[in-house]
Amino acid sequence: MSSKITIIGAGSVGSTIAYTLSSQDIASEIVLIDINKKKAEGEVLDIIQGTCFRDPISIIAGDYEDARDSDIVIITSGIARKPGQTRLELTQTNVNILKSITPEIVKAAPNALYLIVSNPVDIMTYVFTKISGLPENQILGSGTILDSARLRCGLSEHFQIAQSNIHAYVFGEHGDTSFIPWSGAYISGVSVDEYYDLENIEPIDKEAMLQYVQKSGGEIISKKGATFYAVSSSVCKLCSLLVSSSESISTVSTMMHGEYGIDDVCLSTLTLVGPNGVQGKVPMRMTKAEIEQLKKSAD
Ligand code: NAD
Repeated sequence: MSSKITIIGAGSVGSTIAYTLSSQDIASEIVLIDINKKKAEGEVLDIIQGTCFRDPISIIAGDYEDARDSDIVIITSGIARKPGQTRLELTQTNVNILKSITPEIVKAAPNALYLIVSNPVDIMTYVFTKISGLPENQILGSGTILDSARLRCGLSEHFQIAQSNIHAYVFGEHGDTSFIPWSGAYISGVSVDEYYDLENIEPIDKEAMLQYVQKSGGEIISKKGATFYAVSSSVCKLCSLLVSSSESISTVSTMMHGEYGIDDVCLSTLTLVGPNGVQGKVPMRMTKAEIEQLKKSAD
C-alpha cells in the first residue's frame, strides 16, 4: 500500500506504532514528529535499520510541513499515566498540548484522517473535534478498540478458543466507566451465555472479566512503567481499516448524535469506519440496563 502516515509523539506509544507499521504493509511513508526532535531521530534510526527485509519504506523524523499529504495522522503526544494515576488526571496537560499542535498539523494535512490516541482519549477526541474545524468523518479516537482486544484475549483464554472466533466488545469511555454489553457477545454465532453449555466450560465471572479489562492498563503500568504493544497493534489494525477498500466495524470513539439518547460527547460503540473515515455508529440491540450503563459512561 502507498499510504503516508504521520505520528505525533515519539514516546513509547508513538514509536511502537511506527515500529509496528514498519513491519506491516500498511504505509509506504511514515513521519515521526516530536517536540523532542532528538528522540524522534533516534527512534527513526533504530526502526529504519530493521527494514531491509521488507519492501522499501520511507521513515523520517520530521516537522509539521513534512506531514503534508498524509492519509492518516496519529496523535500520541502528551503525558502518560504513572502508577496509580487515572486517565482523567492527564486531561489538562494533554488538552493544552493538543491545542498547541492542532493548528500546525491541520494546516499541513487538512485532508488526513485523524486518529487520536493520547489520553483521556474520549475527551481528547472531543476537544480535537471542536477545535480542529475538520469534518467529523475525519476524526476518530482509538477509544475502546484496545479494551475490546483485551476482552477478546480474556474470553479466548477462558473458552480456550481462537480470538478470531470471538465477537465481543467494550463500550463507553476508554476508562473506568467502560462496560461490556454481554447481549452482543458471541463465539462464532453462539452467545457466550450458551456456549459453555455446549462445551462444558465454567460460566464466565462477568464482573471479574470487566475488572480484567479495566485494570489491565494499570497493572501493566505498575509492572513495566508503560503500555504500548497492545495499543500499537490496535492502532495499526485501525490504520489498515482506514486504507482498505471496504468499510469495517470497530469500537472507536466518535461524536455521538442522539444514538441511544446520547449527544455531544465522544464515546465508543460499534462504528463504521473505512477509507472515507467515520461513516457513523451502527446500532446494536442492547438491554435497558446496558443502555443505562452507556448513559452513565457518557455522563
Ligand atoms: P511518552 O511520555 O512515552 O511519550 C509522549 C511523547 O509526546 C514524548 O516523546 C513527548 O516528547 C511528546 N510530546 C509532548 N509534547 C509534545 C508536543 N507539544 N508536540 C510533540 N510531541 C510532544 O508517553 P506514551 O507512553 O507514549 O503515551 C502517550 C499517550 O498515549 C499518553 O497520553 C497515554 O496515556 C496514551 N495512551 C493511550 C492508549 C489508548 O488506548 N488510547 C494506550 C496507552 C497510552
